Amino acid sequence: MNAPMPAGLRPNQQDRPPEWAITCPVPTCKARPGNRCTTPRGRHLHAGSHPTRLDTWLVQQHAA
Ligand SMILES: [Zn+2]
Repeated sequence: MNAPMPAGLRPNQQDRPPEWAITCPVPTCKARPGNRCTTPRGRHLHAGSHPTRLDTWLVQQHAA
Protein backbone atom coordinates (compact mmCIF):
# COMPACT_ATOMS: atom_id res chain seq x y z
CA MET A 1 0.00 0.00 0.00
CA ASN A 2 3.05 2.22 0.23
CA ALA A 3 4.26 1.89 -3.33
CA PRO A 4 6.26 4.93 -4.44
CA MET A 5 4.36 7.31 -6.66
CA PRO A 6 5.56 7.00 -10.27
CA ALA A 7 7.20 10.05 -11.77
CA GLY A 8 4.93 12.03 -14.01
CA LEU A 9 1.87 11.42 -11.90
CA ARG A 10 2.26 14.72 -10.13
CA PRO A 11 2.45 17.50 -12.69
CA ASN A 12 2.94 21.12 -11.64
CA GLN A 13 4.22 20.23 -8.21
CA GLN A 14 7.40 22.24 -8.58
CA ASP A 15 8.60 24.85 -6.18
CA ARG A 16 8.34 27.52 -8.84
CA PRO A 17 5.18 27.89 -10.90
CA PRO A 18 5.96 28.21 -14.64
CA GLU A 19 4.33 31.63 -14.81
CA TRP A 20 7.11 32.96 -12.59
CA ALA A 21 9.19 33.10 -15.76
CA ILE A 22 7.53 36.40 -16.63
CA THR A 23 7.03 39.70 -14.85
CA CYS A 24 3.62 40.00 -13.23
CA PRO A 25 1.37 42.29 -15.30
CA VAL A 26 -0.61 43.42 -12.27
CA PRO A 27 0.27 47.13 -11.73
CA THR A 28 0.17 46.86 -7.95
CA CYS A 29 2.43 43.81 -7.99
CA LYS A 30 4.99 43.81 -10.83
CA ALA A 31 6.72 40.80 -9.36
CA ARG A 32 9.91 40.17 -11.31
CA PRO A 33 10.67 36.80 -12.93
CA GLY A 34 11.45 34.15 -10.35
CA ASN A 35 9.75 36.13 -7.60
CA ARG A 36 6.51 35.44 -5.84
CA CYS A 37 3.64 37.87 -6.33
CA THR A 38 2.93 40.36 -3.59
CA THR A 39 -0.09 42.32 -2.50
CA PRO A 40 -0.11 46.15 -2.56
CA ARG A 41 0.82 45.96 1.11
CA GLY A 42 3.94 44.02 0.30
CA ARG A 43 2.70 40.69 1.58
CA HIS A 44 3.31 37.51 -0.34
CA LEU A 45 0.31 36.28 -2.24
CA HIS A 46 -1.07 33.12 -0.70
CA ALA A 47 -1.50 31.43 -4.09
CA GLY A 48 2.03 32.40 -5.10
CA SER A 49 1.02 34.39 -8.15
CA HIS A 50 -1.84 36.43 -9.55
CA PRO A 51 -4.29 34.65 -11.88
CA THR A 52 -3.56 37.40 -14.40
CA ARG A 53 0.09 36.45 -14.37
CA LEU A 54 -0.69 32.84 -15.12
CA ASP A 55 -3.13 33.95 -17.80
CA THR A 56 -0.55 36.20 -19.44
CA TRP A 57 2.03 33.46 -19.33
CA LEU A 58 -0.37 30.96 -20.92
CA VAL A 59 -1.18 33.40 -23.73
CA GLN A 60 2.53 33.86 -24.37
CA GLN A 61 3.02 30.11 -24.58
CA HIS A 62 0.33 29.85 -27.21
CA ALA A 63 1.67 32.84 -29.09
CA ALA A 64 5.20 31.40 -29.25
ZN1 LIG B 1 1.41 39.55 -9.22
